[in-house]
Amino acid sequence: MTSEIGARALHVLETVFGYPAFRGQQADIVEHVASGGDALVLMPTGGGKSLCYQIPALLRDGVGVVVSPLIALMQDQVDALEEVGVRAAFLNSTQTFEETLRIERLVRSGEIDLVYVAPERLLTQRCLELFDVSPISLFAIDEAHCVSQWGHDFRPEYIRLSVLHERYPGIPRIALTATADLQTREEIAHRLQLDDARKFVSSFDRPNIRYSIVEKTTGRKQLLDFISSEHPQDSGIVYCLSRKKVEETADFLNEHGIRALPYHAGMEYSQRAANQSRFLREDNITMVATIAFGMGIDKPDVRYVCHLDLPKSLEGYYQETGRAGRDGLPASAWMAYGLQDVVLQRRMIDESEADETFKRVLSMKLDAMLGLCETLSCRRMRLLDYFGERSGPCGNCDTCLIPPIQVDGTVPMQKLLSAIYRVDQRFAAGHVIDVLRGAQTERISQWHHDKLTVYGVGADRSEQEWRAIVRQAIALGFVTVDHDAFSSLKLTDAARPVLKGEQKVQLRQYQKPVKAKRPSSRAAGSYEELELSRSEQAIFERLRTWRMGTAREHGVPAYVVFQDATLREIAKVKPGSLDALRGVSGVGEKKLVSYGDEIVAIINEMM
Ligand code: ADP
Ligand code: ZN
Repeated sequence: MTSEIGARALHVLETVFGYPAFRGQQADIVEHVASGGDALVLMPTGGGKSLCYQIPALLRDGVGVVVSPLIALMQDQVDALEEVGVRAAFLNSTQTFEETLRIERLVRSGEIDLVYVAPERLLTQRCLELFDVSPISLFAIDEAHCVSQWGHDFRPEYIRLSVLHERYPGIPRIALTATADLQTREEIAHRLQLDDARKFVSSFDRPNIRYSIVEKTTGRKQLLDFISSEHPQDSGIVYCLSRKKVEETADFLNEHGIRALPYHAGMEYSQRAANQSRFLREDNITMVATIAFGMGIDKPDVRYVCHLDLPKSLEGYYQETGRAGRDGLPASAWMAYGLQDVVLQRRMIDESEADETFKRVLSMKLDAMLGLCETLSCRRMRLLDYFGERSGPCGNCDTCLIPPIQVDGTVPMQKLLSAIYRVDQRFAAGHVIDVLRGAQTERISQWHHDKLTVYGVGADRSEQEWRAIVRQAIALGFVTVDHDAFSSLKLTDAARPVLKGEQKVQLRQYQKPVKAKRPSSRAAGSYEELELSRSEQAIFERLRTWRMGTAREHGVPAYVVFQDATLREIAKVKPGSLDALRGVSGVGEKKLVSYGDEIVAIINEMM
């Protein structure tokens, strides 16, 4: 960045936020918006979207208005800004009338840099009239995908945000989202009247996240093993489909020594908020939640995100797993998935109130999700490909680390398909597998299925193996699960060439789950540099304890004081003076004044 505004932006980045350089497209976005341009920013979670509007708001005259749907998080966002010396406030329904009046005065006189508002608040006559007479530097529309009626975060008020364009045509607007699919992008541009805005589309890759998907057997027990062996001291999120399962899983983890808290929309608001707040503030908590949890959660050191149930779409999966590792340090995305998940999701689509077109969309999304689960190639390649990005094998997912063994599965697939055909496509997977394995059940005798030619032809394989084949048959499109009450398996047209022996089928042979401890070289990047020796580890732990106490005193989340990455760098650099500390990434001028002496004292005491 060579322009004058670019130089000023870099200065703010260094002195206020304490970072030495912009990341990715941040520099271009900041320069464009600070110069008065409109922007649509698509960046993955953890990409650094906040600075894209915070720095332009500091560079331009007046108050930057940030529209965000997340009232519960506004306090933390404002606290984080105040920690670095930015004058920020919010306007929302949790405030007293006096407080509202005070903030409104500050906005009108331009005495603050940023104000956060919820969309429903912004759309009130009172708020619009306030902004009419206030010096506004820009409007930032965060979580802009909430405007999309197709997504699960839809907020009707977002559609009315086109008022900003009509009412304040000269004020730059920047809309931001981490939702990657093309349909949502176009909907955002169109509905927010940002068709003419410059689009900044970043790579959606999150190289520090390791993806793994295991075959579900015991579910919860597998989860416990994963957390205890890979992330015993870390914060993480576990997603479940139902409220009941959230509660049960949280109880189970607690009984086994993992500090877990539940979160779902059926809980009392106060309890939910309290759990969220503990998760944000404390270290080493596992949040067990429905997808109601997570949007806008800025916690940078979430080390793992687990799915105990199959997500509905790759968009959802990517958004949820993206909450891991925002700080760029190694993180895990782990999922356990089984045939029952497919059956359940199919049924949910069929039983939903949606019209046929919408059901078809849901069905296609689910197919893409299954494709990822059953893929024989790199998970990341597959994911990025879905979002329109080409890439090569990543070296940091389960299929790259321990490539699945491919076997010619033509014969077992034919057996399965003919068994489905022979039982008149009227039975679910369990019964079809019983027939194949030659089981003796009441239903089999009742329907005389022991007389079929396929009876017992698959006795050489376990039920588990057959389930894996059924899943792949569904993922490969040979079989569908019917909407009838029994979830019967049905053949598609694609099954014919396989049955006739005209098409060969490659299947994946399941193996024991990956248990690789070391991050791969590619993902390690920043981490290797921050790898700590034993004495440095002791300093890091000491700094963490100091941080917890300080955060508690100030009533802010620990990461608002300093992030793990910053504390690790301090432990490595061991700055003996304020000047040396100033050079650490994440230490800006204000934090240097607030905490510098204490940090330097800790370092000197431990040297
Ligand atoms: P997003 O909103 O896109 O998910 P954030 O704005 O929360 O991402 O930023 C993610 C993390 O990256 C935060 O911890 C933030 O402090 C850090 N970060 C952002 N930009 C930079 C930068 N230029 N240099 C260093 N760290 C950065
Ligand atoms: Zn890979």
